[in-house]
Amino acid sequence: MPERSGHDVVVVGAGLIGLACAWRAAQRGLSVILVEAKEPAAGASGVAAGMLAPVTEAEFGEEELLRLNLEAHARWQEFAPELGGDLHHRREGALLVAADRDDAEALHRLHSFQLSLGLEAEWLTPSECRRREPGLSPRCGGGIFAPHEQHVDPMAVVAALLAKGLEIRTGDPVAAVDPHGVRLRSGEAITAEQIVIAAGCWSGSGIEGLPGMPVRPLKGQILALRRPPDRPLAEHLIRTPRCYVLDRGDGRVVLGGTMEERGFDTQVTVDGVYRLLEAAYEVLPDVTELEFTGARAGLRPATPDNLPLIGRSEPGNVIWATGHYRNGVLLTPITAEAVAELLTGGEVPAAVRPFSPERFAVGVR
Ligand SMILES: Cc1cc2nc3c(=O)[nH]c(=O)nc-3n(C[C@H](O)[C@H](O)[C@H](O)COP(=O)(O)OP(=O)(O)OC[C@H]3O[C@@H](n4cnc5c(N)ncnc54)[C@H](O)[C@@H]3O)c2cc1C
Repeated sequence: MPERSGHDVVVVGAGLIGLACAWRAAQRGLSVILVEAKEPAAGASGVAAGMLAPVTEAEFGEEELLRLNLEAHARWQEFAPELGGDLHHRREGALLVAADRDDAEALHRLHSFQLSLGLEAEWLTPSECRRREPGLSPRCGGGIFAPHEQHVDPMAVVAALLAKGLEIRTGDPVAAVDPHGVRLRSGEAITAEQIVIAAGCWSGSGIEGLPGMPVRPLKGQILALRRPPDRPLAEHLIRTPRCYVLDRGDGRVVLGGTMEERGFDTQVTVDGVYRLLEAAYEVLPDVTELEFTGARAGLRPATPDNLPLIGRSEPGNVIWATGHYRNGVLLTPITAEAVAELLTGGEVPAAVRPFSPERFAVGVR
């Protein structure tokens, strides 16, 4: 069997998580190779909207995830300039808008929850909402303004990471891991001291020699729209309980995202497109004027408790960096930092709960 010369680290998967982990590891002087089944960002990272929005993502019962997301949001403020390039990083904040009375009830409860956690979030009356965002429907029932919410263009982040000169092997998936490194589907072996599994929703199964982790695909459909250069649809990130709309600032508008338990299916459906357009139209009626430029579906790597899986497991040369669910863009810098620490014998940031076998019942296949 042909063998490649040894590396310190092999990273499996070149999505945002794998690329950022490889970059941080290389910065610490480790020799790193990425192995990607298809091409970089072939998975969820190439489809994601790019919200860095911990406050409007906060959900009842997910306080640990919220703390992690807040830390990750803070990391982004240094990560973005260090990465360089035009990431379309926008910082205008988010408006989580009620389209009707039911929404308003639910959002009032959510707002109280946010305040109880000390989050910065202000309740705006319908007219205050429309003052900030004149394109909102007159039927808007008020909403929550979260001033520090941001977004980036995930593909611009991928491009910036690819420009770091990382060694990447594409088009040949990792079929197995063993104490010496990984074996590719072609039969080629790559030797490495340590292995980082960053294969998104494909991390949970299909690679021989790994414990079966409970990572599953959660389908999300998302639409690409275009507006005239001189007519922004909305200044802020606009969210409702059923959709989000973000304007990249250069004419591109993103409308997402469905949440569907459909296994590994990535078909764009009429139902998905219809529901997203309907949800956006409720609050931003001018959305119907925009050009429709495309629709995609991607697979979020979800875990049973919605927290990412970061840390070491058996076999002892394996580090997991997966399960980032709806927050993988947001969690990219803090995950890469945690993995670089683990690779060099350090401590992970306090907000990251390192993986332990007790969290889920796992055993090596
Ligand atoms: C519609 C949608 C909207 C989203 N919006 C946001 C958002 O606004 N903000 C946010 O923070 N997050 C968002 N997310 C979530 C985010 O996209 C993911 O959490 C994140 O991209 C996961 O990154 P990853 O690198 O772990 O996985 P992926 O990007 O899926 O990458 C995994 C890579 O591993 C490769 N691979 C798989 N198996 C193997 C193998 N055996 N060998 C080698 N390579 C392999 C795949 O080809 C793929 O390239 C969204 C997701 C979707 C679907």
